[in-house]
Amino acid sequence: MWTSESLRDSRVEKSRALPLADSLVRPRLLSTVCRILLFALCLLLSADCRLPTAYSLPPARGLYEVREIKPHVFVWVPDDVLDLEGDPQFSRAGTCGFIITPAGVIVVNTSNTPFHGRELLYEIRQRTDLPVRYVINTDSHADQMLGNEAFVDQQAIIVSSSLAAVEMRQYAHTLARRLREDENWRLQARMRGIHPTMPAQTFDREMSIRLGGQEIRLVSMGGAHSTGDAVAYLPAAKVLFLGHLFENGFFPRLASSDARQWVEILRQLEAWDVETYVPGHGPPGDKKQLAEFRGFFEWLLAEVETRIQQGKSLEEVRRELNPAETFRWSARELAPRAIEEVYRQLEQERAAGLSAAPQDNPPGQPTGPQ
Ligand SMILES: [Zn+2]
Repeated sequence: MWTSESLRDSRVEKSRALPLADSLVRPRLLSTVCRILLFALCLLLSADCRLPTAYSLPPARGLYEVREIKPHVFVWVPDDVLDLEGDPQFSRAGTCGFIITPAGVIVVNTSNTPFHGRELLYEIRQRTDLPVRYVINTDSHADQMLGNEAFVDQQAIIVSSSLAAVEMRQYAHTLARRLREDENWRLQARMRGIHPTMPAQTFDREMSIRLGGQEIRLVSMGGAHSTGDAVAYLPAAKVLFLGHLFENGFFPRLASSDARQWVEILRQLEAWDVETYVPGHGPPGDKKQLAEFRGFFEWLLAEVETRIQQGKSLEEVRRELNPAETFRWSARELAPRAIEEVYRQLEQERAAGLSAAPQDNPPGQPTGPQ
């Protein structure tokens, strides 16, 4: 039958056509697959040659720098960038440091998130595989201690003054309340995976850490910036880590601080046998920069005091004074708070002075020539 024949023929044609098409397509397909595989292999090989191991990958972008200020004494200085993670009240990363000794590493402050703590640890690991033995917190503020968590796995001993440890526990307690009351989940999102990690060892007045021939003296200097402030002194290297007691090119955060006491403590610290002062924010400085920072408090105390004597209100003083014009520093948003705190302190002093005046001349006592 022609139909079946033609059908058969066409089937034959088809059955013949398929291997024919295959014979044309398959080599092309094979060659394309081979090319892709070869290309992928080249890519892999070239990537393997180009990229170092994951262990030594560079940071995403240099939003910090590391300076070796003295042999084996390093300072980690973050750029002035406000972080989107961590506590929004402490979104500016703090300056940290680390000292490498033959017996291990000592870290001074850990910045405002475990992410920055890990950057610090990364930089330590670029220089040594020795264990991190100690982490020192110079004060309780979250932008110097929320990175502690990154060093827990290192089994480092976290050290602070006993008063700073109390303040840190208060902070953790307040943070837990803020998280419970965080109705829009913003704080929850920012604090996700971050756990305030408390010191395991504390000291009241002084403590000395000796590790690998390096001595670090921790000295309580509370009462200016906060009650729990301490400093970390390396007498051999003549380096002094001051934490928030010194800001280099940044306005300080005054919160129930004592500006007069701050001036006194800075004067004392200027007299120490120190060449490099490491601040809470900004790059390391010298005695000149420390004195400039003291000058800010002296200027602010004098300006506010003059206006209080003229009977001016806090609002008037705030309108008239612009610290950011006189001091071209970062963290300008903290300047109005500094005015408020100094005004509050001077008003309290004035009120205490007025109430103390009758006690100087108690009733019934002679007050003048008889
Ligand atoms: Zn700070």
